[in-house]
Amino acid sequence: MTAPTAFVEGWDFVQTLGEGAYGEVKLAVNSDTQEAVAVKIINLEKNPSASEAVRKEVCVHKLLNHETIIKFYGFRKDGKIQYLFLEYASGGELFDRIEPDIGMPQQDANRYFKQLINGVEYLHMKGVTHRDLKPENLLLDDFDNLKISDFGLATVFRYQGNTRQLEKCCGTVPYLAPEVLSRKPYDAEPADIWSCAVILVALLAGELPWDEPTYGCQEYCDWKDCKITKSPWNKIDNLALSLLRRLLVENSSKRYTIRQIRDHQWYNKNFNRTALGPLNRLPSSPTSSPSGTSHFKRMCSGNELSPPSHTKDSFKHISSSQPESRNRLGSEGDTNSPMDSVDRQFCFSQPVHPDHMLLNSQVQGTPGSSQNPWQKLVRRMTRFFVKPDRDGTKKELERVFEHFGYNWKFNSPGMVTITTKDRRQYPLVFKAFFLDMDENLLLDFRLSKGDGLEFKRHFMKIKNHMKAVVSKVPPTWPLVPSQVSGD
Ligand code: ATP
Ligand code: MG
Repeated sequence: MTAPTAFVEGWDFVQTLGEGAYGEVKLAVNSDTQEAVAVKIINLEKNPSASEAVRKEVCVHKLLNHETIIKFYGFRKDGKIQYLFLEYASGGELFDRIEPDIGMPQQDANRYFKQLINGVEYLHMKGVTHRDLKPENLLLDDFDNLKISDFGLATVFRYQGNTRQLEKCCGTVPYLAPEVLSRKPYDAEPADIWSCAVILVALLAGELPWDEPTYGCQEYCDWKDCKITKSPWNKIDNLALSLLRRLLVENSSKRYTIRQIRDHQWYNKNFNRTALGPLNRLPSSPTSSPSGTSHFKRMCSGNELSPPSHTKDSFKHISSSQPESRNRLGSEGDTNSPMDSVDRQFCFSQPVHPDHMLLNSQVQGTPGSSQNPWQKLVRRMTRFFVKPDRDGTKKELERVFEHFGYNWKFNSPGMVTITTKDRRQYPLVFKAFFLDMDENLLLDFRLSKGDGLEFKRHFMKIKNHMKAVVSKVPPTWPLVPSQVSGD
């Protein structure tokens, strides 16, 4: 883990939450009050081109204040390092709730979709378009409420009543509306709505409908021709499908608006949640799918317009979140469930005075401290305990890496970087950290580059091949990674 150069008195970096395109996002906790914030750290020395993008991200994000949007607390600069202080979303990424090739229960998808639409409606009301809506940019709070995050590509399309069309082709290809790829001016609002619809397909079916919405893509042509007997459509019920039919409409002026979405029967359907219990409240993590790592190429300029060359089957299976066991403990709002008490016990609170961090600039780096008690409280899925034998574990890891044909390098005794290719032959880079935790050894995996879902597939393979050294979770451990490991 890299040490930040400076931070604020009383606030400790306790964990890396994710890697972004230009740097890392870390969890900072106030040692007195236990307030938590996410800090996006951008190193302009390493990424000089990020300067303008960060300026814009700050400009747009600070305009926003809504329950469905990650709060922006502030911004500060220390030489070439820039810090963005953000509300900490302790529930991780929405991506983690999507089961590979399955999706999630319709009622959960419906709830998340409604929250997403509320957020997008708010953004549009403020004249802001996100332009990179996808499950990795949708985070969850402690109560499983969706929060739109990552305003790195957002822009203002309406200002003082004047609406402008957009021209820049940017976002993540499978989520992009056809008009965004068309190189012609397009309207901002319907383009975001299209992305919401692709997200809905991912939620309901656990896969994306197509690589890109162009005529060169057979899956897209089939959809246009109403050939919907195959996956993902055959996994989606008719009512939801009828909404998607109105959303994934090529002609953006005929696409449903948010008002029309709100009138649709599926949107308003009263799913009987009591029978199924609350949404997943499992130890999913803020870190388990670090998606700096957008799993599809993120495009930022006209020059980058050509989508990556990929095989026909590429992008087909987006989902590889670890098979979470779905703990359904009573009905929604049942705050007396055992899981809730565990969650509450280990909750961080959001800061009351975030300004403190912005004013002070004292050095307070405790990054990656393996003994840091806060580390214990951060929930993530891509890790497991092994027997407390570093050498044995290292050998076992190397055996498994060799078996899977990975390239790997121990950057330090406690950290190894693994490089491989995903199923689409895209680079996949992830790291494993050895963390000493109360006489136990924890192997903590984190994605550096590539598709978050592919990363999770690889993590599961590694874990399954390391059964000989995987150890039971210590009894004192509050949130049990092996519960969600798919064993
Ligand atoms: P990319 O361009 O690859 O999408 P980025 O540089 O824009 O990345 P973010 O998407 O903002 O970075 O953050 C990267 C990851 O860090 C997120 O996917 C998420 O896992 C984690 N993360 C970001 N912000 C928060 C937050 N407020 N709370 C918890 N985790 C966060
Ligand atoms: Mg992102």
